[in-house]
Amino acid sequence: MINDRLNLYELTFDELRQFLVDLGQPKFRAKQLWEWLYIKFAGSFQEMSDLPASLREQLEQRASLGLLDLEITQLSNDNHTKKILAKLPDGQFIETVLMLYDKRRTLCISSQAGCAMGCVFCATGQMGFFRNLTAGEIITQVIHFARELAAKGERVTNIVLMGMGEPLHNYSHTLAAVDRLTDPSGFNLGARKITISTVGLVPAIRRYADEQRQTPLAISLHAATDFERDKLIPVNRKWPISELMEACRYYIEKTGRRITFEWALIDGENDTLIQARALGELVRGMICHVNLIPLNPTNGYLKSPSSKQRVEDFQAELSKYRVSSTVRLRRGIDIQAGCGQLRDRAVNRS
Ligand code: SAH
Ligand code: SF4
Repeated sequence: MINDRLNLYELTFDELRQFLVDLGQPKFRAKQLWEWLYIKFAGSFQEMSDLPASLREQLEQRASLGLLDLEITQLSNDNHTKKILAKLPDGQFIETVLMLYDKRRTLCISSQAGCAMGCVFCATGQMGFFRNLTAGEIITQVIHFARELAAKGERVTNIVLMGMGEPLHNYSHTLAAVDRLTDPSGFNLGARKITISTVGLVPAIRRYADEQRQTPLAISLHAATDFERDKLIPVNRKWPISELMEACRYYIEKTGRRITFEWALIDGENDTLIQARALGELVRGMICHVNLIPLNPTNGYLKSPSSKQRVEDFQAELSKYRVSSTVRLRRGIDIQAGCGQLRDRAVNRS
């Protein structure tokens, strides 16, 4: 039974070495296997030509390469965005998106099946929480696309933890995956190329700051007053904006790194000049950048994205506070590339 096999992407290097020693293998085999996993992205044990046939046979029996069982694959009309919905062995679904911008190959990956945070505008929040992903399940999403890109002589250049789930609510598995993907003797992606996006779990942000992590942090702010943020993001009632901003300042102080604030612009809701001014007051003088993203409409939330004019007005107001911002395109909208939207379609269809 495939479910009983150990996904080798669950293991750290030391654990992999122990696994091989337990199979009676010499220690140096670990490096060979690690390279098949993280540099050559082998799709089968049979490909692992420098391993003895008897070992390949044993691995076949006991281990797996975590290959994803794809339920849906979609390519956007402009061919720049590819989204997959994978079914995990226990029936859970996760989404991963590959975006091609110029030379960048950016992956948007999931950290949980569903999400417990319940942000009202978010398709994942609307479906509720199912479970945390393991480190191996997080890594396997990356390896899937790395394998596909390698066939074209390309590689993954950036990763954002902006798929399904709240990465800091699954702290240890998410950061274990990040550590493995940045391992210089393996996948070797620069820590600065992996962005962790959080809804604002204050104790976890402080822990992340204390660990002096080099992976950039994005905060999903979306409103600059508690009255407004409470309506959009339930967890704001637990950690209101003042506590969140204190944690952000603490992070900047500890790491010297810039923070990105995410802001989904919702027509008539958080796109007013009053909110723009409140945001300007809140982050003025901080080492930060604001990403403005017109809302991606979802079935469970009836509001609309802000018009181009309102987006421009909001940005102009913000610039009066000398806060830098970028308006992000909504890529892949024709393939439901917003987080959680593809699972919605698959589940509601069946
Ligand atoms: N849970 C994390 C990361 C996953 S969500 C977080 O909330 O940050 C990734 C980003 O997509 C977040 O900034 C989130 O607020 C945003 N998002 C979710 N639903 C959206 C929608 N319908 N339109 C625009 N942005 C959305
Ligand atoms: Fe969860 Fe992020 Fe969606 Fe909020 S926006 S429900 S934290 S995935």
